[in-house]
Amino acid sequence: MHKALPVVLLVFAATIVAAASRMPLLAQADIPGATLRIEVQQPIADDKAAEIVEWLQSASSNVSLAYGRFPNPSPRVVVIPAGHGSWVGSSPVPFGRVTRDRDEKIEFFVNPDRPIHEFYADWTATHEFSHLLLPYVRSRHKWISEGFASYYQNVLMARAGRYTASEAWQKLYAGFERGRLSRPELSPNEAAVAGVRKARMKIYWSGAAIALLADIELRERSGGRESLDVALDRFQRCCLPSRSSWSGPRLFAKLDSLLDEPVFMPLYRQYADAAGFPDIGPALQRLGVRLDNNSVSVTPHAELADLRIDITSGRPPL
Ligand SMILES: [Zn+2]
Repeated sequence: MHKALPVVLLVFAATIVAAASRMPLLAQADIPGATLRIEVQQPIADDKAAEIVEWLQSASSNVSLAYGRFPNPSPRVVVIPAGHGSWVGSSPVPFGRVTRDRDEKIEFFVNPDRPIHEFYADWTATHEFSHLLLPYVRSRHKWISEGFASYYQNVLMARAGRYTASEAWQKLYAGFERGRLSRPELSPNEAAVAGVRKARMKIYWSGAAIALLADIELRERSGGRESLDVALDRFQRCCLPSRSSWSGPRLFAKLDSLLDEPVFMPLYRQYADAAGFPDIGPALQRLGVRLDNNSVSVTPHAELADLRIDITSGRPPL
């Protein structure tokens, strides 16, 4: 009995060490309006984990550039090493998602072998954090949540200086083209019901087009007093974080109630159940975003050039 004791103790100690090495690293990061509660799962080397925490602080701060603060004061962020499966590819952040239970939690599957500068250039985190600008939207209106996040990922990466303004418009233009060519027989609502596996580009980019149309109309008719940023700022003050599941019309009607005049429900009625793609061409032309010789450029003398610059610079409302 006595001889066995040291062995038992050794085994016990080894178990503790093994368990400790698998313990996630916990960290907090302050950003405007919020403190992130971060959990970095193992194995990720300590120095890379520290770099990843700094990157999360930076990427989540991008979303504060919408209206000055992060939409949720205390979100959970979980970082999971993605391993080496073929799905990981060469991306530093092959996958991210938001889950909403009691808390809003954002999970990032990362490839810790990639250099940290690649994380900063990647849009995935800005996209996922942008989802928190809206509550959970029911899957049959998923084009609203995916569309607004796709619009904001580009706008906010420009405001943060990660993209030039031209790059942001090039990426938006290319996305709208992908959306226009994807499942033209479906309306946004039908595409959402079909699901992301069958209509991903239609879902993401029809919603982004409607976000841009709303942003332009709000800025133009108010002379810069209102914008998509302002609408979402007011929405956060009344309604976020929200534990309920919102239908698209309920969300759009609520946003309209916070504005001088409705813009979202008229767009919903025009496009949500219409096949084809939202009519974005005239808006892009007025913004001065155009295709020349297979490359997208922005022109300084367009009718809405100042408004276009306001969108990517994040100039505060008048
Ligand atoms: Zn998304």
